[in-house]
Amino acid sequence: MSALRQIKQALLATNGLGLASLIAHSRWRQQRLLILCYHGIADGEENGSHPEMFLPPETFARRMEIVARSGCKVVGLGEGLRLLQKGELPARSVAITFDDGWADFPRHAFPVLQRHGFPATVYLTTYYCLFQRPLFRFALAHMMWKAPSKVIDNRTFEWLPRQLDFQSEASRNALLWQIDGYAKQQNLTGRQKDNLAAAFAGALGFDYSTFCERRLFQLMNPDEVAAMARAGVDIQLHTHRHRTPLDRDRFVAEIKQNRDLISQMTGADGVSHFCYPSGAIRPDFVPWLKEAGVESATTCLNGLATRNGDLFLLPRLLDQYRLTDAEFESWLTGLAEFLPRRKSEPLDVAPE
Ligand SMILES: [Zn+2]
Repeated sequence: MSALRQIKQALLATNGLGLASLIAHSRWRQQRLLILCYHGIADGEENGSHPEMFLPPETFARRMEIVARSGCKVVGLGEGLRLLQKGELPARSVAITFDDGWADFPRHAFPVLQRHGFPATVYLTTYYCLFQRPLFRFALAHMMWKAPSKVIDNRTFEWLPRQLDFQSEASRNALLWQIDGYAKQQNLTGRQKDNLAAAFAGALGFDYSTFCERRLFQLMNPDEVAAMARAGVDIQLHTHRHRTPLDRDRFVAEIKQNRDLISQMTGADGVSHFCYPSGAIRPDFVPWLKEAGVESATTCLNGLATRNGDLFLLPRLLDQYRLTDAEFESWLTGLAEFLPRRKSEPLDVAPE
């Protein structure tokens, strides 16, 4: 553990020598909105191959307990942003968001939120919501992680090395990029990519059909999205293909298609809150988002949202397994903003 991290843990253990409570009750904290960011809440093997994206249900339930007993006020995202702008947020306000729309949301996240009466927003990417198959890159990464033999002879894919090496994360990643690059270069459709994943599974001796039946690395289907919307979950924008093209027309088309599909599923008009896929931010995007009728955009940068901050560069707290309960709590109080912290790392996993 680094010296800085040791100092931080010592401070956290004493709640910042009493500072946490002072900050939690301050006007400084009242003028800030903490937007929590989650991806999947999963009880299966997802946590093994993608721990940064999937939180075990018990961890998520514990975090929500901490929110409930910390005296924080959980507000809906739109309402929270409106009150933030007006300087009228309740003390220790928190909003809760989920990226992508993973299939485990109704089973593992929603009941916990409902138990506490917490509103939540799901930023839904719609392509894999309609195409109910595992997300290509996640499926590949998972089967390589899970492969019983760590090195296999490849006689099937002439565009891959003769020996496929799954021994280290680096070797698996290199293969993943090679396969993904091939799919892009060949311009494969979702169906063709799924066939390729199935063929790759065959070469590895991985049971792809059971994997698909278990809905690992799949998103909610339209009926589940509709049911969640009826139950009060706010469904918002995350692009159709989890892509932010660098071309204005294609960028705006991604938002429009995403919004139209969400409206069809939920019956909601004017869906206008956006989350950047994979946390990819560029200055060009902001005018394009405004043009597409978007009101706010959240990032994967850690921080509390402030009244004078940019509504199109809203920071969040990416809650994940590496965060201890004490660190999580320090974000609720606001103490975390005064402590040294890890730089936010953009997620390089894109469910497109
Ligand atoms: Zn995403």
